[in-house]
Amino acid sequence: MRLRNIPRATKVLAQSSLVIKEEKEKKGKWQMVFAREAPLYIEIGMGKGKYIEAQALANPEINFIGIERYPSVLLRAVERLQEAEAAPPENLRFLCIDANELPEVFAPGEVSRIYLNFSDPWPKAKHARRRLTSSEFLARYDQFLEEEGLLEFKTDNEKLFDFSLEEVENSDRFTLLAHTYDLHNDKEMCVGNIMTEYEEKFSGMGYPIHKLIAKRKK
Ligand code: SAM
Repeated sequence: MRLRNIPRATKVLAQSSLVIKEEKEKKGKWQMVFAREAPLYIEIGMGKGKYIEAQALANPEINFIGIERYPSVLLRAVERLQEAEAAPPENLRFLCIDANELPEVFAPGEVSRIYLNFSDPWPKAKHARRRLTSSEFLARYDQFLEEEGLLEFKTDNEKLFDFSLEEVENSDRFTLLAHTYDLHNDKEMCVGNIMTEYEEKFSGMGYPIHKLIAKRKK
């Protein structure tokens, strides 16, 4: 998702208590940010953040962090929450960083679940390592996802999905638990499904949604 640059974004994010700054200093101490002990779930590439917000509201016993690299995109999530009548969920925070940096931000085992939703496909072969489900990224997730922690990935892009299945199956750190090429018609895998913004858009256009769930090995 590329929005035009919004000049006020950096300033608004700097002033928002929803956006955590100096994130590398929080490594190993994320429970303190939320002032409670609870499992930590993250969404990488959250876009405008409706999915992670809905997850946080539906699961108050979990701490959530939404991660987005573009300030102008994260701004949409922050302003929506700030302008809403209800207070933002206490179990939700945001980081404005690139996913490459995550092993410097989270300590080994600190994250219990990773959500990847409609990640950028990077269709050229020479850019494959930039895909958030590439073996390079799986190796990064292995550094901070807890043993048996889950990685959940949804997309409408069949080529990216096939690539992702292959990367998980070839990985010695992750086991594929389940997958479907048609999430919305898969009774088991669709239970409790929360739609993302891209999911609403692409399923509304008639495209099937693909999903895989992988588990980090012990
Ligand atoms: N997850 C949302 C959804 O399903 O509606 C947004 C999907 S959008 C196609 C992908 C988002 O991931 C964009 O907002 C993009 O800026 C972000 N993104 C892509 N690569 C990223 C990275 N390496 N680190 C952090 N965010 C990233």
